[in-house]
Amino acid sequence: MICPKCEYEYVDGIKICPDCGTDLIDKQDFEGNLVTPEDWKIIYTTSEIYIADMIKANLEGAEIECMIIPQKDSSFPAVGNLAVIKILVQDKDILTAGEIINDINNTEITDEE
Ligand SMILES: [Zn+2]
Repeated sequence: MICPKCEYEYVDGIKICPDCGTDLIDKQDFEGNLVTPEDWKIIYTTSEIYIADMIKANLEGAEIECMIIPQKDSSFPAVGNLAVIKILVQDKDILTAGEIINDINNTEITDEE
């Protein structure tokens, strides 16, 4: 258990932080809450949702958390599909995620030969 305000860990059985009186939360939940947008970096952009889905599936298969942010660029006239889909991963996963995405791209090229 951990206090979300003080970020101190407490032994099981303690439910309220002795320092600030905040309800303690599960450590796993706390680490989930630590994820802020600053921790996330764009690792790939594509205009094809199926590519974004494929990369997400591969990253999740490697137990890498990722976010897909679809965004339309409204500063251009709407000709064709101008949606840019961003794939984000956390800082700590960038290297691994980059390798996985490279592998996907290499595999696609090989398949076309
Ligand atoms: Zn506290």
